[in-house]
Amino acid sequence: MIEPEVLDASLTAFGSMPSHAEVSVARLTPGQRLTRGFRGAGTFWAIAGACIFIPGLHFVLVPGFLLIGIVTGVMRVRDAETVVRVHGVCPRCKFEQDFTAGNRFAPTWRLDCRACHNHLELALTDRA
Ligand SMILES: [Zn+2]
Repeated sequence: MIEPEVLDASLTAFGSMPSHAEVSVARLTPGQRLTRGFRGAGTFWAIAGACIFIPGLHFVLVPGFLLIGIVTGVMRVRDAETVVRVHGVCPRCKFEQDFTAGNRFAPTWRLDCRACHNHLELALTDRA
């Protein structure tokens, strides 16, 4: 994997001053994107394979999970960047922490503080 790029971001919570956060974003090589795509699709295809043994429901579950696998695989292949780490200070309780990193990269997204359980809004300040 290529060295993750660290982007500046701000964490905001309703009624609090925004605080600084760092978002580590990894750019994926075409091979890594393909691997992620097949891993995502393979998970659902394995579930589809297991559903063959459920009488009656297999008429719905097997094609359903095969289709979900294809959609997931295509979505993973199209993701050129993944968020590997989000680190910052909660604007409410000032607790410094690593947040659970969402896989998809977006300009803003919601996070939950582990300490005070408030919903925080993360916005990238480097780019829109
Ligand atoms: Zn907090």
